[in-house]
Amino acid sequence: MERKMEESTVRDVETGSETGGEDALVGNVNKLMVSPPGYSGALRKGHLVFDACFESGNLGRVDYISEFEFDLFIRPDTCNPRFRVWFNFTVENVRETQRVIFNVVNFSKTKSLYRDGMSPVVKSTSRPKWQRLPAKNVYYYRCPDHRRNYVMSFAFCFDREDDIYQFAYCYPYTYSRLQHYLASLERRNLPYLQREQLGLSVQQRQLDLLTITNCDQHQSPEREKKLVFLTARVHPGESPASFICQGVIDFLVSQHPVAQILRDHVIFKIVPMLNPDGVYLGNYRCSLMGFDLNRHWQDPSPWAHPTLHAVKQLIVQMSQDPRVSLEFYIDVHAHSTMLNGFMYGNVFEDEERVQRQAVFPRLLCQNAPDFSFSNTSFNRDVVKAGTGRRFLGGLLDDTSYCYTLEVSFYSYMTAGSTAPVPYTEETYMKLGRNVARTFLDYYKLNNLIKDNIPAHLQCSEMKFHTGNGNGKGNGRDTSDREREKSQGVGH
Ligand SMILES: [Zn+2]
Repeated sequence: MERKMEESTVRDVETGSETGGEDALVGNVNKLMVSPPGYSGALRKGHLVFDACFESGNLGRVDYISEFEFDLFIRPDTCNPRFRVWFNFTVENVRETQRVIFNVVNFSKTKSLYRDGMSPVVKSTSRPKWQRLPAKNVYYYRCPDHRRNYVMSFAFCFDREDDIYQFAYCYPYTYSRLQHYLASLERRNLPYLQREQLGLSVQQRQLDLLTITNCDQHQSPEREKKLVFLTARVHPGESPASFICQGVIDFLVSQHPVAQILRDHVIFKIVPMLNPDGVYLGNYRCSLMGFDLNRHWQDPSPWAHPTLHAVKQLIVQMSQDPRVSLEFYIDVHAHSTMLNGFMYGNVFEDEERVQRQAVFPRLLCQNAPDFSFSNTSFNRDVVKAGTGRRFLGGLLDDTSYCYTLEVSFYSYMTAGSTAPVPYTEETYMKLGRNVARTFLDYYKLNNLIKDNIPAHLQCSEMKFHTGNGNGKGNGRDTSDREREKSQGVGH
């Protein structure tokens, strides 16, 4: 069948309507109303209306193939046509029991987890929780109609006429969502949490920096605190990184005894969204101006890469400050072809340093059933020289460790499982909580943390001990594991 754009009727129509919810549409929007070729009458039920003009939305073009089939084109990253992976759009004006096939025809990648059972996520007005489509409804294949490009087709049956359906590559996590989350944290007035604006993006969006540590006066001032620096969403389409990052933050600001001990001994600095413009625009890999910021660490420009420039400046400044002991830098990403959580680290001449670098991922592997040490690898690829992990690995001294933390867009295998378990928003966050609590194991192993009693808990704040039998807040004892289970922290 010849597929030509001209044959279909695709109209841009100004409407003022909005859908509510987290990804609320922004102002007046251009919707794509797709009716059969040659049809010029009023839109009927079942003439689908597509829209991606909202935050983190992405859909470039829709071709009408038949009443039941549509070709969808991803809008490439702004100023960089090489990247076409992330999609996120709504469909409305559906007929009840209308069955359709959507073909996403212009992916820029060939290797994909779609081959291994990954499927797009969907929600609708009356079912606002994201779900993965059943894998049996998804096909990934080389298509002769599209220059032998890889095409992902999925079948879907609409079931409620008044619903607006939303489809996405993976669970969206928008800039606004982060802003709401951070505002809700701020409203709690936690004495150990500080939020500041580290800079602005090209489009004047906020680059947030959180500092989490206990500034309690009971603590001896001479006690050295280690510093852990975490960044996420340098690659805007890698939304799972935001769920992990939120999991880390949620744990570190919680009343969990492990979190309280960590705040006594460690300063956590977190930049939850390194590329806010890219996230807002619905890009997959790049910033507004088309730069892959994770290839520009060596020489970021204050006007072309302002957010990266600000973060790098802060880290370089801290690395030169004798009062700061920057021990960890972790940059969180999502991976489009691998399963599980895993890490990339650096290669060093010094074998002992290599071994020391493997300690954190090994401990994380014990705490997180979805984290794989065997997938973790250490490299010095030339193409990765401009990444945060590689650049800072060269800059910081040999007592510091720099990693990329990757998590699958799709699923994980646990020791006992026979089939991959698809990640949910919750299990991504759980990995974040497990990352956070692994720092306790690490610092106990390294004798930074000897006792298990947070300094300020030795005084009067016994209320934190409720539900924790021995009142000591031991990170790894039985009662603690029970407590973690009830909070969903454990395995
Ligand atoms: Zn990435």
